Amino acid sequence: MVTQPLPVTWVEVDLEAILRNAHAIRRRLAPTTQLLAVVKANAYGHGLLHVAETLAAARVADALGVASLTEGIALRNHGLTLPILVMGPIVPEEAPLVARHRLTQAVCTRPVALALARAAQRGKDPIRVHLKVDTGMGRYGVPHQEALAFARWLRRFPSLLMEGLFTHLACADADAAFTQRQLALFRRLVADCERSAIYIPQKHAANSMGLLAYPEAQWDLVRAGLALYGISPKAGWTPPVVLTPALAWKSRVALLKSVPAGTPISYGATYRTARPTRIATIPVGYAHGYSRRLSNRGQVSVGGRRAPVVGRVTMDHLMVDIGARPGVQVGSPVTLLGRDRAATITADHLAAWSGTIPYETLCGITPAVPRRYLPIPSLRRAPLATAL
Ligand SMILES: *Cc1c(COP(=O)(O)O)cnc(C)c1O
Repeated sequence: MVTQPLPVTWVEVDLEAILRNAHAIRRRLAPTTQLLAVVKANAYGHGLLHVAETLAAARVADALGVASLTEGIALRNHGLTLPILVMGPIVPEEAPLVARHRLTQAVCTRPVALALARAAQRGKDPIRVHLKVDTGMGRYGVPHQEALAFARWLRRFPSLLMEGLFTHLACADADAAFTQRQLALFRRLVADCERSAIYIPQKHAANSMGLLAYPEAQWDLVRAGLALYGISPKAGWTPPVVLTPALAWKSRVALLKSVPAGTPISYGATYRTARPTRIATIPVGYAHGYSRRLSNRGQVSVGGRRAPVVGRVTMDHLMVDIGARPGVQVGSPVTLLGRDRAATITADHLAAWSGTIPYETLCGITPAVPRRYLPIPSLRRAPLATAL
């Protein structure tokens, strides 16, 4: 007798693989260069708290990076004491929360800097800020032409500790000339600051591609995201370090039926069986983050062999053509992403089939899909309570 519904789909996270990747990245860095582990977007779908706690316990990350205040506060509330850089913007009203939770805040506007300075005056410690500079990303940051003046202005607030100066690469995986221009602009700014006797201990520019492909972009710290989760930041490119994917996405065959040739499958009847075959229904759909763009394009693995997704992916289900292959039955394990004996479906495969990038594929797996955490032998301690 079960007392609770059994999960129809779940994600398995190999935290040990994340640690291995973090150590592999570290070996690429100069001894004085710090590693900031980017854990935004629920740690790229791997689970914010588990990933952060594991990295902290293994002492392999010097800091954590998140996109939002909400994520930073969640990490603090969970007891994490590592420095946490909130890389995304806040509004001035939120400044007291940065102080209360001892977060480090990226700053690029004066109203936010002023609010942080005021919030810090009310507390006993200065607030650490990292000045964000736009050298070509066109998103969040002081335009590089104005950054020196901004740094001079920021330095006047004794309650703010200008710990960092950073920029973000827009084309590191695609355009070397563009990237070199961004790095040159940042290098010039760093030199200008030093000439003005503004010494900022943590200068950083590199994301995963930056740190793997541009050694000169490392400065004092690197911000590693996708590589930490074991995936090359550029499809088809083999990075100079061994990376192990840490996430697998699984389900089970919910229903299996034999159908004659000409049977329409799913909404819109976009697929008709060409021959008598067997169709398996898998209880995963776009509500779980399995993109509808995988309709008639995706593949899953059943019993160590790939099977095509046929017809439209629906909100909670997808169908695959199993053919005559023996051994498949209701309850058979299905791998949507990950290794299944000889068959491996990578995040790159899923991303290519659905016309996106592995970043979106991974963080698109909704938080409602339970995460199971494999034991971490190297840490010799129990992981957090498993999600199931
Ligand atoms: C997401 C993000 C990163 C990490 O990028 P990856 O390509 O995943 O390594 C680094 N820096 C900033 C500012 C980011 O937003």
